[in-house]
Amino acid sequence: MTKKRIAIIGAGASGLMCADYLSDFDCDICVYEQMPSAGRKLLWAGKTGLNLSHNEPIDKFIDRYDTKAFAHLIRQYDCHWIESFCHQLGVETYIGSTGRLFPVAMKGSQFLRAWLNKLRHKGVQFFYKHKCINVDNHTVYFDNDNHQFSQKFDAIILACGGLSYPKLGSTGEWVGWFGSNEINPMTASNIGICHNWSSYMVEYYGKPLKRVTSWVDNDKPKNNHKTSNKKENGDIIITHYGFESGLVYKLNRDLKEGFKHTGKLMLTLDLLPDVDFDKLLTKLKSIKKQSLNTLWQKAGLDKIKIALLRECVDKQYWHNGEKMAFFIKNLPISFEGFRPIDEAISTAGGVKFDGLSYFQLKSNPYVFVCGEMLDFDAPTGGYLLTACFATGRGCGQNVAEVLNLIKR
Ligand SMILES: Cc1cc2nc3c(=O)[nH]c(=O)nc-3n(C[C@H](O)[C@H](O)[C@H](O)COP(=O)(O)OP(=O)(O)OC[C@H]3O[C@@H](n4cnc5c(N)ncnc54)[C@H](O)[C@@H]3O)c2cc1C
Repeated sequence: MTKKRIAIIGAGASGLMCADYLSDFDCDICVYEQMPSAGRKLLWAGKTGLNLSHNEPIDKFIDRYDTKAFAHLIRQYDCHWIESFCHQLGVETYIGSTGRLFPVAMKGSQFLRAWLNKLRHKGVQFFYKHKCINVDNHTVYFDNDNHQFSQKFDAIILACGGLSYPKLGSTGEWVGWFGSNEINPMTASNIGICHNWSSYMVEYYGKPLKRVTSWVDNDKPKNNHKTSNKKENGDIIITHYGFESGLVYKLNRDLKEGFKHTGKLMLTLDLLPDVDFDKLLTKLKSIKKQSLNTLWQKAGLDKIKIALLRECVDKQYWHNGEKMAFFIKNLPISFEGFRPIDEAISTAGGVKFDGLSYFQLKSNPYVFVCGEMLDFDAPTGGYLLTACFATGRGCGQNVAEVLNLIKR
């Protein structure tokens, strides 16, 4: 009997994980990648430390996603599974104090190299510079160095990624292969936000607002700092275009929700979350003769936070202790928008789950979809890669079942 032929389009985290799962079965696996090499986004992600997953209670982990469509797979392929997967590849890992899982080497190159070696050893074939230009029924149309050809497969797995960082390969041409009803519009996620600073802020570009709390508060706060929405703690980097940092990424979803309801992108900051409002008020009401900068510094603000206050609070309030205490604990800042999608860490939106039956496309049963192409959103912190790994394996599980593959 001839072996089933499976095409995987995209050699990123999800495509490789799907190939990994299927490589235990008796079938021919061909991975087609439009770039000259595999896993470019994995390598890029590793530049600042490849955060593979997150060690936290699984229900909390699952709540990080805006969908429960693959929650069962996250349970199955959780942080500990990924840890042991790495160890089997000979890649040492560690869990940092924040619960994030990283390779000890931090970068992704050792992990990727070991993984590709394993896959090649198990017979997975790789075709680089092979761009899929269309999929029709069970035929894939390719372009390889301007030579176009087509091939038929028993299953076609699309693992082409989202729309962010297109220079790494996730260019999003696949959007045109789907019906518009099968896709939710793709939007930037885990992305910086834009604010037009005055020239006064130029010297603070690249500087951090340390240990602040921030939230999206669409109901204007009243006379204290109690608010309705989820608060996030951490640092925020002031940039020439606005704000950037993991804390801002965590609030991306709330910001979008807020925009839907109010038409405004507003963040509120508590610049001194460890200082009680009343204590702060006492310090700010000091009658000693001193400059405003000295007064604010004594209250606990560093010069970057003071600069932000001067930038965002109307001058008429600077000498009013009560007002300033309020603004230090509830500084509202409005933003003009998000940075462009090609700068985003990830994209939300994508192939809708209701057009899929366990990753198999209802409109074309030869086609399966996994990874960031799927319609999900999650913050940074290892949740994106975990989802790509889990859906890659889940997709492989269903392909094996649909094609009646036999384990080697
Ligand atoms: C700067 C940065 C840092 C990040 N850091 C982290 C992190 O630390 N932790 C984390 O969890 N997540 C992180 N992410 C997100 C994570 O890297 C992605 O969510 C994940 O890599 C997506 O995997 P994927 O397989 O779905 O897509 P991709 O990794 O984008 O792979 C898709 C592949 O498909 C190929 N392809 C696309 N179209 C075609 C076509 N038509 N024909 C042939 N090949 C095609 C592409 O060239 C690409 O190689 C980061 C992302 C960025 C940009």
